[in-house]
Amino acid sequence: MAKKVVIAGSGVGGLALAARLAHDGYEVEIFEKLAECGGRNHLLEDSGFKFDMGPSFVLMPDFFEELFSYCAENIEDYLDLRVIDPSYKIIYSDGDILTVHRDSSRTKKELERIEPGAAGRFDDFIRETARIYGLIRPLLYKCVTYKSLANPYYWGLSGRIRALESYWRLARRYFKSEKLCYAFTFEAMFMGVSPFNAPAFYSVISYTDHVQKIAHPMGGMYRIPLALEKMAGKFGARFNYNCPVEEVSAGKGKLLFRHKVGQSEADYAAVNADYSYTQTDLLKRKIPELKYSCSTYLVYLGLKKKLDKLAHHNLFFSGNLTRNLNQIFKDKTVPDDPSFYVHVPTVTDPSLAPAGKDILYLLIPVPNLMRSRDDLLRHEERLRKLVFNKINRFCGCDLADLIEVEHHFYPQDFIGRYNIKYGATFGLAHNLTQSAFFRPANFDKKIKNLYYVGASTQPGGGLPVVIASSRIVADMIRRAG
Ligand SMILES: Cc1cc2nc3c(=O)[nH]c(=O)nc-3n(C[C@H](O)[C@H](O)[C@H](O)COP(=O)(O)OP(=O)(O)OC[C@H]3O[C@@H](n4cnc5c(N)ncnc54)[C@H](O)[C@@H]3O)c2cc1C
Repeated sequence: MAKKVVIAGSGVGGLALAARLAHDGYEVEIFEKLAECGGRNHLLEDSGFKFDMGPSFVLMPDFFEELFSYCAENIEDYLDLRVIDPSYKIIYSDGDILTVHRDSSRTKKELERIEPGAAGRFDDFIRETARIYGLIRPLLYKCVTYKSLANPYYWGLSGRIRALESYWRLARRYFKSEKLCYAFTFEAMFMGVSPFNAPAFYSVISYTDHVQKIAHPMGGMYRIPLALEKMAGKFGARFNYNCPVEEVSAGKGKLLFRHKVGQSEADYAAVNADYSYTQTDLLKRKIPELKYSCSTYLVYLGLKKKLDKLAHHNLFFSGNLTRNLNQIFKDKTVPDDPSFYVHVPTVTDPSLAPAGKDILYLLIPVPNLMRSRDDLLRHEERLRKLVFNKINRFCGCDLADLIEVEHHFYPQDFIGRYNIKYGATFGLAHNLTQSAFFRPANFDKKIKNLYYVGASTQPGGGLPVVIASSRIVADMIRRAG
């Protein structure tokens, strides 16, 4: 008889694990708090506008391909991934623009204009980050613990991947201007951490977005969880939506999930819900104080007409980037002049809005709710004006006049909707003391056959990495017998 696995949560991590294990012949059952799959990779539909509410960048497409080939399926039968060009635009507060193209020779011309000599240093930066990526990539498919340190391979690795240097310092080695240092470290914000605190090895994200390029799934990001749900379903995984797990425990050699409609028992269990929430709320444990990523204030706009000038991905940088980062991560106050991100998926994919209309998704990093000293709602109107004015200036429009539909998502909503501690959008922070060996392992140290998959465990957050965590857990369960 097939062994049974229960999974709490159908985020991309839970779905990817379900697909792998169902493919491997396990009986898989998923329990999800919400009415649909996807977790943070969520879709909101209103008046013909399809807003992807969470992730918008598909980086490292080879991690997605690995999952489909593990399940002996063709990714093309599920997802139409298109590489986008230009990759993104950075709009500085003085009006300067850096366009990052798919073709690096064009990007280098832009860099040279901003900082003479930067084109050559870009090549050096990419060489260095490629070297680090070569060392890091195999580790993304491994759960490492202190015991792993017995393996001589890991000795000296921290030096080779520049673990003790910050992402910011690494960029500083190659670029002189603050403008370019920020342009090559902003990706840290998408892990919810300041580039001043993120270890230099996270620069592999810059490497992947410049070298491997950025993709978009036609039909929207929500196609990703739908594809995984379909693939898992094809192999027999069963889904229970609107069915939050309330307690996880072990008894008589089985793992037990207490949930809304009773209790389920299985040979193995995996929790995809946020790690800290799982420890305190589902396992009723006390946890040491951990560090959490920043939160985000999200605004979704459906516009009556299309805007010119914006690319698919746009980053508007604060006039004082250091102050902006310090306010979010150190002072824990709502920034007075925030950097923000504008996603316009309709540039690539008009199917996401009614004909002739645009979607604008605004992401403004703000402090998480752990000992936050500020109330976002007090600043909401000011933030909205500031962000709208910058977009208006850039596009030559009056955004407020163009809005047909508008939705908001607040730090508190990450707790209410997804059970993410302190509304920390990206889960546990990716600083040195919470990376690799120091990040929660993918297995429970006390309860046998209980595993963790997803952004707050190893190897970390972001869709490709969460997919890698599902491989780690699937391998562990197969090895367990
Ligand atoms: C605004 C935003 C922008 C982002 N941008 C990018 C990007 O551009 N590119 C990228 O790669 N990544 C991005 N990310 C990160 C990426 O979305 C996440 O790392 C990834 O989606 C996390 O997946 P997960 O499976 O670990 O967790 P989740 O998506 O959080 O899924 C966990 C699931 O568990 C469920 N759950 C919680 N409690 C229970 C319970 N008690 N019982 C049952 N179910 C429960 C939740 O409802 C949820 O469905 C972004 C995230 C956000 C929020």
